[in-house]
Amino acid sequence: MTRRTRRPAAGDEGPGPVRRRFGQNFLHDPGILDRIVRAIDPQPDDRMLEIGPGRGALTVPLLDRLQKLDAVEIDRDLAAALRSHFPPERLTLHTGDALELDLAALSETPPAGWRVVGNLPYNISTPLLFHLLGQSEHIRDMHFLLQREVVERITAEPGSKRYGRLSVMVAARARATELLGVPPGAFHPPPKVHSAVVRIVPDAEPRVPAARLPAFAALVNRAFSNRRKTLRRGLAGLLEAADIEAAGLDPGQRPETVDVAGFDALARQIPESAG
Ligand code: SAM
Repeated sequence: MTRRTRRPAAGDEGPGPVRRRFGQNFLHDPGILDRIVRAIDPQPDDRMLEIGPGRGALTVPLLDRLQKLDAVEIDRDLAAALRSHFPPERLTLHTGDALELDLAALSETPPAGWRVVGNLPYNISTPLLFHLLGQSEHIRDMHFLLQREVVERITAEPGSKRYGRLSVMVAARARATELLGVPPGAFHPPPKVHSAVVRIVPDAEPRVPAARLPAFAALVNRAFSNRRKTLRRGLAGLLEAADIEAAGLDPGQRPETVDVAGFDALARQIPESAG
């Protein structure tokens, strides 16, 4: 059973100034919040972790449906205000940097899989995604509100304009789906760009195993450092044309046409990452 959570103070202006260095754009559109929470579909027993709860715009409707929630907030003033709004048995608030999150150590009773959610600070969204994908064995699913262009890059297919490093690195560990668009007016202050909600579900058996991930990531980085270069030129010094052919690819191909399996085959050509 869950009980309705007291809403933060009227006007929802919250404490302190908006801190741009923390990427603070607070959601205030009730219709959008409702659509986001329905897309997440929290169940009372879920172990959910919210990144950057801010002034509680998502925290409140989530806690209306959950027995308890964990959250990580870097802004000490916001964290203090959240602590005064929500009892500790409902909201376990971790004050700190989500980029340093260790999901295995977050709770004394680690769940089988965390459900991670958040209206992410746009300035850290890509490194945070990589950080979480590196711990995907502890994650059941993730729902993030991100810059729409970033969501398009995450969900892009090989051969499309947005396909690149981010698409490959996510596809190596998970499936991603764009769920809904969110206009700038849904936030205070409004960001300059449109946003979208993405669902990312880690694979039970990731296409690229954790042990090979560093070599895979280095190779993908290198290949996309200049997407106009062919594999032969982009990977020069790392792999010979013969290695690229041995991976079943054409050295004259451009990286944007190579799928996860292709990059993994290339990574296996690097001696220390074969296996
Ligand atoms: N969830 C709130 C909402 O939807 O209105 C706030 C979203 S705001 C875009 C991002 C939030 O993440 C802010 O509260 C900000 O202080 C927090 N934040 C920024 N960088 C962070 C980090 N490295 N670790 C944890 N929280 C962070």
